[in-house]
Amino acid sequence: MALDLPLRCRCGQVRGVASEVSPSNGFRFVCYCKDCQAFARVLDRPDVLDAAGGTDIFQLPPGRVKLTAGADAVRCLRFSDKVFRWYADCCRTPIANTAATPRFPVLGLVHSFMSDEAKGRSRDEVVGPPLCRIYERSAIAPLPQTAPPPSSFGMFARRGSKLLGWWLRGLGRPNPFFDDQTNAPLFAPRVLTPSERVAL
Ligand SMILES: [Zn+2]
Ligand SMILES: [Zn+2]
Repeated sequence: MALDLPLRCRCGQVRGVASEVSPSNGFRFVCYCKDCQAFARVLDRPDVLDAAGGTDIFQLPPGRVKLTAGADAVRCLRFSDKVFRWYADCCRTPIANTAATPRFPVLGLVHSFMSDEAKGRSRDEVVGPPLCRIYERSAIAPLPQTAPPPSSFGMFARRGSKLLGWWLRGLGRPNPFFDDQTNAPLFAPRVLTPSERVAL
């Protein structure tokens, strides 16, 4: 059963909704990469990471995510050419990751922006358990016992076919973080200075 999952930053200023959410309508995983860790640290939100530095992410089609309030508090950081990292400036809550272009039909919601429940069902029930982990070589401690299994070729293929389906069905648009006409990001991403990067 697919549900609408409310989205909100910690203080509640930035809000939104992810529609038609279900385990099969998305792909949940835990990412231990250094850039995801740096994102939480630069926002001074290490609480978003698990004990080994993992970030819990639910990927879904951008066309199913809407911001309903506080969009003017949304900001963007960029550590690489490929990924834009969106957050709420009001309370420094990580919101989501996207590609640097709205042409890629995936938006990765960070768990810190998702409500704990929808219609009386827990978030874990609504989005399903994490299916795999990635970049665990960058973990900063032994993985928690609850860590999902490593990714496999089958998992990779499963995700790829989901993405293709989203793209074919036009669910990549509109992307809440890009102008639908011009493809420009709604908020210009800020690149970390080398000294900021070193401080992490
Ligand atoms: Zn990552
Ligand atoms: Zn906030």
